[in-house]
Amino acid sequence: MAAHTLTESQQQALLHAARAARLKAYAPYSTFLVGAAVLDDQGNIHAGCNVENAAYPEGVCAEAGALSAMVLSGGKRAQAVLVFGTGGAWITPCGGCRQKLREFCAPDTPIFTANENALGPRYTLVQLLPDSFGPDHLHSP
Ligand SMILES: [Zn+2]
Repeated sequence: MAAHTLTESQQQALLHAARAARLKAYAPYSTFLVGAAVLDDQGNIHAGCNVENAAYPEGVCAEAGALSAMVLSGGKRAQAVLVFGTGGAWITPCGGCRQKLREFCAPDTPIFTANENALGPRYTLVQLLPDSFGPDHLHSP
């Protein structure tokens, strides 16, 4: 399945999974809850939430949790990603998560944003992380 053939039901499933994951977030310090969901190459959806830590840099983003869940269950590639937050601005993956997503996404993999009211802007990985470093660089002759 090519990334651009994401069905409406898959998009809705991603939205629901990320919204539900957000409610499980552990964010006592920022109180900024984020959920993410990844559609893998098998058609399965994996969700993650942010998990903060008293030692702030040790916190984990929602996207990282979703990717870990994907890998754990045997997913190899991400076909689509959705990040769900609330507030006035659309939540896009942080810089670190863009690189984490780069490992499992194609350049044209769609990355959706959403909040409690609507789907927001849709990006591709290459839009969020142009000219990126990835696995191919390590396998060049
Ligand atoms: Zn992040």
